[in-house]
Amino acid sequence: MSNFSFPRPKAPPVQAREPVEGRCPECNAESLMRYPVLSERGWFVAVKCQQCLHSVSREKWTRLGHVRLMTDAIGG
Ligand SMILES: [Zn+2]
Repeated sequence: MSNFSFPRPKAPPVQAREPVEGRCPECNAESLMRYPVLSERGWFVAVKCQQCLHSVSREKWTRLGHVRLMTDAIGG
């Protein structure tokens, strides 16, 4: 009888911000960063402009340890 309790991810495995290619649709700056954010619905991976803090995209954090690249959506 196994009583496995999966560790709940309190934090995503990667905390560091990652630069993302592309331009901000708001201010046209090339300073997009992707990083995990915690909301009331859990962890999301957000791509935000560091100039005007516009949210370019936000996706539910996957617990698979792999984050899909969003450069396809940006088309950079
Ligand atoms: Zn911007």
